[in-house]
Amino acid sequence: MLQPAKPAPALYEARKTVHNRRIDGPFRRFKWLVMAVTLAIYYGTPWLRWDRGPYAPDQAVLIDLAHRRFYMFGIEIWPQEFYFVAGLLIMAGIGLFLVTSAVGRAWCGYACPQTVWTDLFQHVDRFVDGDRFQRQKLDAAPWTWGKVLRRAFKWSIYVVIGFWTGGAWIMYFADAPTLVREFWSGEAAPIAYVTVAVLTLTTVTLGGFMREQVCIYMCPWPRIQTAMMDENSLLVTYKDWRGEPRGSVKAAEKNPGAVGDCIDCTMCVQVCPTGIDIRQGPQIGCITCALCIDACDRVMAEIGRPRGLIDYATLEDCRAEAAGQPPRPAWKALLRPRTIAYFMIWGSIGLAMLFALGLRSHTGLSVAPDRNPPFMLMSDGSIRNAYTLRLRNMATQPRAMTVALDGLPGAAMWSDTTTREAAARFLTVSVAPDSTHTLRAYVVAPSGTAAAALAFTLTTNDAAHESQRAETTFTAPGDTK
Ligand code: SF4
Ligand code: SF4
Repeated sequence: MLQPAKPAPALYEARKTVHNRRIDGPFRRFKWLVMAVTLAIYYGTPWLRWDRGPYAPDQAVLIDLAHRRFYMFGIEIWPQEFYFVAGLLIMAGIGLFLVTSAVGRAWCGYACPQTVWTDLFQHVDRFVDGDRFQRQKLDAAPWTWGKVLRRAFKWSIYVVIGFWTGGAWIMYFADAPTLVREFWSGEAAPIAYVTVAVLTLTTVTLGGFMREQVCIYMCPWPRIQTAMMDENSLLVTYKDWRGEPRGSVKAAEKNPGAVGDCIDCTMCVQVCPTGIDIRQGPQIGCITCALCIDACDRVMAEIGRPRGLIDYATLEDCRAEAAGQPPRPAWKALLRPRTIAYFMIWGSIGLAMLFALGLRSHTGLSVAPDRNPPFMLMSDGSIRNAYTLRLRNMATQPRAMTVALDGLPGAAMWSDTTTREAAARFLTVSVAPDSTHTLRAYVVAPSGTAAAALAFTLTTNDAAHESQRAETTFTAPGDTK
């Protein structure tokens, strides 16, 4: 007899709102700590001050787009030093590889902004609407004035959080106290208002409403991470050989040995912020926040069974443990060739950057010869070349600098502010703090001088005696290539 065909699985499934339950335990407390530290860093950093003297801003971390500077405590990065920022980004990338290969998606579970803000919004839900069951009940209840007011109150807290998040962001780009004053008096640049509005909207949408959907459907990182993990990466794992078949405590008492340790209480599912059941195996929705470990450990403690039915474990350790070997401490999975290699690369880049920062000069010199005309013949037969020199003073105080000619014997130079009569082998220039001075230099050589290599040297006239050298050419008649 023909059986009725099974209905095909739906291609689209409507989202079921996740109302995760409150839980306490070591991982939850660690999450609290990470959340407090990361939010304090994000909201508080623009308010930190750092004295750089009278000629530079005193905000500890500042991205000064108008003047093209990036300040980070004692470090000031100029546009041509962007390689330091690139180095930091490379370190962040390799740091993520290191963390992923060692402890799986710990970044996702604890420190990713989407996780931190979602966690914050979930606490707001709990504060306003109560824990899981009250929230489920309220969701299913018809719209009454009470529900409308409650929702309005909760969503206004969302908007306040979103607004502070956007507000904190723009403070990284201008002096925070000044910007706050200008913002509230309506004098800030329009882009500040637009940025805050956009970030308020995205924060509320992504953290307040979309939540786990961002991790499961939008973020590419989980897909990349799976390529970086192997059988020795730590993952939050349900030990099915120990938990299955599931059965109640009574069933275990009646038939000792017939059921596993999982009593099917679903506490691990109820506390999960992405709403998944870890007992179905590793899945892309698991951000390895370990709240299910806290929940299950509590249950195990209550029924008098050993903790760790759900635990951080590697696939290899699971195989060994299922075969009867004693569990291996999770930290042992951290030390292996791959994590050590990532750490060495990460550390080497960090050391190289520290070394480069320690040796970096606070001056700069670049030279561009005039191309049209490349030279001028003077009335006395001498030959003149003109150059545009850019002198950088990256220090926070004004500095006198000497620019000298190196090579081309018999040549002398003068600038826009001096005359040919005062031509000499060197010029002294005062350069304002934290700025670039453009200098027009006219180099004159005796009649008959052939084209030759020429260099300008720059030396600061202070105790640091920093120096720079820029090479160029002197063009003469018959050599205008
Ligand atoms: S919390 Fe532990 S005992 Fe309860 S269902 Fe989850 S795995 Fe089973
Ligand atoms: S399954 Fe466990 S570790 Fe994974 S997201 Fe849910 S609570 Fe966190």
